[in-house]
Amino acid sequence: MALDHLPLLPTATIGSHSIPSWMYAVYDKMAGGEFGEVDAKEAYDDAVDTALKDMEEAGLDIVSDGEMRRVGYILSFYDHFAGLRKRDLPRKVGVLAYDGQHHFDAMERVTAPNGLGLREEFAYTKTRTTHPIKVPVPGPLTLATHIEKGAAYGRRRDISYDLCKIINEELRAVVEAGAEYVQVDEVFQVFSMRPEILVDCYNRCVDGVKAKLGLHICFGTLGGFGYSARTYRPLFPALNDCAAHNLALEFANREMSEAGMWAEVKCDKELTAGVIDLKSFAIETPEQVADRIRLLLKAVPAEKLFLSPDCGLARIPRYLGKAKLKALVEGAKIVRRELSGAA
Ligand SMILES: [Zn+2]
Repeated sequence: MALDHLPLLPTATIGSHSIPSWMYAVYDKMAGGEFGEVDAKEAYDDAVDTALKDMEEAGLDIVSDGEMRRVGYILSFYDHFAGLRKRDLPRKVGVLAYDGQHHFDAMERVTAPNGLGLREEFAYTKTRTTHPIKVPVPGPLTLATHIEKGAAYGRRRDISYDLCKIINEELRAVVEAGAEYVQVDEVFQVFSMRPEILVDCYNRCVDGVKAKLGLHICFGTLGGFGYSARTYRPLFPALNDCAAHNLALEFANREMSEAGMWAEVKCDKELTAGVIDLKSFAIETPEQVADRIRLLLKAVPAEKLFLSPDCGLARIPRYLGKAKLKALVEGAKIVRRELSGAA
C-alpha cells in the first residue's frame, strides 16, 4: 500500500503507541546501567516491531514506529540538545503531571549537533513494514515550553525559532531518506493566545520539506490532564495559512464538539479527526465510532477525512490501545460500506 492508494476514510496513528509492559523493566535496567548499547538497541528494535504488529493487526492504514525509541513524548529530545542546563524537578512526588517534568536553562543558543534521531528511527522502521509510515516530531513551541531563556536568549520566541531550524533540518533529512509523511505535534497551551506564531513556526519547520505535511494539535494527554480550554476556534482562520496538508485534531474526548467546524472555518485541508477518546478507559464500540464519523462527514468531504485516536497511545495500557485501534478500524469499515452503497 502506498500513500496515494489509501482507502476512503484512511485510519492512522497519531504517533506514539502504548508502551509494552516489558519495556518498563528495560527502562529500569537501563537506568541502573545494566544494559549495554547492543542490549538497548535490541530492546528498542523489538519494541518497534511490537508496535508495528499491533497497528497492522488492528488494520491501521498509516502506521509509525510507535515512538518506541523516545521517552515521555518530548523528554528524551532534550538529550539531543546542546546548550542546556537541567533544573531540579519542581515537584517530585504525587500525581504524574506537567509540573513534575524537568525544565532547562539555555546557557547557549540551542543546537542539536547530532540531529534528533528521526533519521535513525525511520531507517529501521522502513525495513519492518510495507504500510505508509507517518514520522511525527514534537513541535518547536511545545519543546520550547521546557526551556527558560537563561543567558542565551532575550525573547522566548527566539528559542522556538532556533528549534524550528533544528526540526527543519531533521525533516529534510528524513524525507531525503525516503519518508513520505511527516507530522509536527504541538500541545495547545503554548500558543493559545497567538495562532499566528504557531503558523509562522510550523511553516519554518516544513520549509522546503517535500512530503505530505501534517500538523497535530492536541490539548495534552499526560496523566489524563489537558492544558487549555478545549476549543480550536481561536486558531482559525490563522491556521488556514499554515503549509500543512493534513491537520490532526481531537474530537472524541470533547463529545464531538466542533465536529461541524470544518465547514464554518472554510478549511480546505485534510482533517485527521480523533474519534477515539484516550481520556476514557471505556472501549468504544465500532457503532459508536461510526456515529462519530457520520457527524464529521456533515462538514468534511469524505475524500478529505482521515481517522485516528485523539492523540498518541503512550499514556494508556497496551491491551486498551489495541482494543481501541480495533474499534477505530471497524468503525471506519462500517461507514465505508455505507458510502459505497454496500451497507
Ligand atoms: Zn497529541
